[in-house]
Amino acid sequence: MKTNLETKCIQEGWKPKQGEPRQLPIYQSTTFQYDTSDMMGKLFDLEEEGYFYTRLQNPTNDAVAAKICSLEGGSAAMLTSSGQAANFYAIFNICEAGDHFIASSSIYGGTYNLFGVTMKKMGIECTFVDQDISEEELSSYFKPNTKALFGETITNPTVSVLDIEKFARVAHKHGVPLIVDNTFATPINCRPFEWGADIVTHSTTKYMDGHAVGVGGCIVDSGNFNWLEHADKFPGLTTPDESYHGVTYAEKFGNGLAYITKATSQLMRDFGSIQSPQNAFYLNMGLETLPLRVKKHCENAMAIAKFLEANEKVAWVHYADLENDDYHALAEKYLPDGTCGVLAFGIRGGREQSIKFMDSLKLISIVTHVADSKTCILHPASHTHRQMTDEQLKEAGVAPDLIRLSVGIENVDDLIADLTQALETI
Ligand SMILES: *Cc1c(COP(=O)(O)O)cnc(C)c1O
Repeated sequence: MKTNLETKCIQEGWKPKQGEPRQLPIYQSTTFQYDTSDMMGKLFDLEEEGYFYTRLQNPTNDAVAAKICSLEGGSAAMLTSSGQAANFYAIFNICEAGDHFIASSSIYGGTYNLFGVTMKKMGIECTFVDQDISEEELSSYFKPNTKALFGETITNPTVSVLDIEKFARVAHKHGVPLIVDNTFATPINCRPFEWGADIVTHSTTKYMDGHAVGVGGCIVDSGNFNWLEHADKFPGLTTPDESYHGVTYAEKFGNGLAYITKATSQLMRDFGSIQSPQNAFYLNMGLETLPLRVKKHCENAMAIAKFLEANEKVAWVHYADLENDDYHALAEKYLPDGTCGVLAFGIRGGREQSIKFMDSLKLISIVTHVADSKTCILHPASHTHRQMTDEQLKEAGVAPDLIRLSVGIENVDDLIADLTQALETI
């Protein structure tokens, strides 16, 4: 039966059989029992499906991954311990030393470091590009060893909207998949697969969890990328894996399952960045109310964006749902129901006044986090992005005066009252 997103958030994933718990149980067990050693052997050989060790797979985690997979319209999905792990695995599953990939320069600071610094030490090179360049210019950055293109649906913290179709066209022209981090939009507001993305990642730490209780990530495959058609580029999927008795993932599991099966049985086996079943349970609870919360986050953020825009002490506001925003046309196309609860703005008077304003807030707290039920604020240049040089900040589009406001689901009148009193102090 075809169902809507709200129904999927409640009903997908855990499907209890007769007499089983209605709510998703937490399989708090490292290991699973079998009657014969032959059966266990088959599991290890990927000949039979089943659970044997939680580092590879756990029923609680798999139920939650299946729910997210259904929301995104994917073919397979896996949970990871964090959004960082999700993005690392998503790339490392198809790139190795000597390979290259391309990413938008406006992505989350943590991902920027992972791609630009840490993965470079592994021999994988990333070229960062302005995501608003033309298709021709984007094409010009591709090399014979380029293996992926990466962007965020809505960038953190600059809240720019990615032209997903443009990125998908260029990626496919060069025979590589488009990977989109859909954390800020969530599948409630945008489903990148509908626009040509091949793989989606999430920091489930944000709206999906929604209550700031558990760090987590997820990777979803659309199943649309034909690995065998580009076999020479992706030997990890199209030639035998020595560490699994010579299994060739794309042949044995097909386009729908190959990518996630490889990421689980190779990367998760060797790196072990699993999500704890306890955190997956919290994540599942968050997912049940995701559509309600996302709608409220967007309503509140829109009211605050309009309030800030009209305030003379505010120099500028970025929120793509505002009609005069640079990304409004892209937002209308890809996110017709609203973008997210995060907006960026600058205060007149620069850094000093920005800090005074933030320190005067009473209800809205200064935390590193974004995208949960409590409204919070951050100054990236002095907090999350402080390890970046001025040059890198500029490249990432993070102005030194940029304040990131993550609007929660409180009564918006109270939030506006808090902002008003803090603006009056400067
Ligand atoms: C927070 C975030 C990440 C990193 O996720 P963690 O769960 O903190 O590891 C990646 N991408 C985006 C867009 C994020 O906002």
